[in-house]
Amino acid sequence: MKIKNRKGMVQTQLKNFGDRCKEAGLRMTRQRQEIFRAVASSCEHPCAEQVFARVRSKLPNLSLDTVYRTLSSLEEMGLLQRVGLSSKARFDGDARPHCHFVCTQCGEVYDVFLRPGEQLPVPVSVRAMGQIRQSTVQFKGICKSCQSR
Ligand SMILES: [Zn+2]
Ligand SMILES: [Zn+2]
Repeated sequence: MKIKNRKGMVQTQLKNFGDRCKEAGLRMTRQRQEIFRAVASSCEHPCAEQVFARVRSKLPNLSLDTVYRTLSSLEEMGLLQRVGLSSKARFDGDARPHCHFVCTQCGEVYDVFLRPGEQLPVPVSVRAMGQIRQSTVQFKGICKSCQSR
């Protein structure tokens, strides 16, 4: 599978965004679009507050509460992924298959991309449960910058 660059991918995702909303029975609003764009175009796995800060200039009437609710509905639609510690949720709009390393100390979320040909082993018992379409693995540990502190 050819992996497009990040910018092209975000543009394609935004183009498909309307269809995905329709499929999910949601109206595509500017609000949803801007919130999605803020997450998808960032490589930093922003938290809700960061998303809020980013879209605020474009949508001055937006509340943090609405950002939370919108992020949850985008997650349910499968457009975003919630990653990181549950006490410090972060959001990921990168549609490329990848895993995460989460630091339990600072809460930072690092992307993990497998090298070509590299594959995570799937336990036999999981194979027996059905057809696997996708797998997400989250590694937890102490990141290098926390280790050196
Ligand atoms: Zn850390
Ligand atoms: Zn990620």
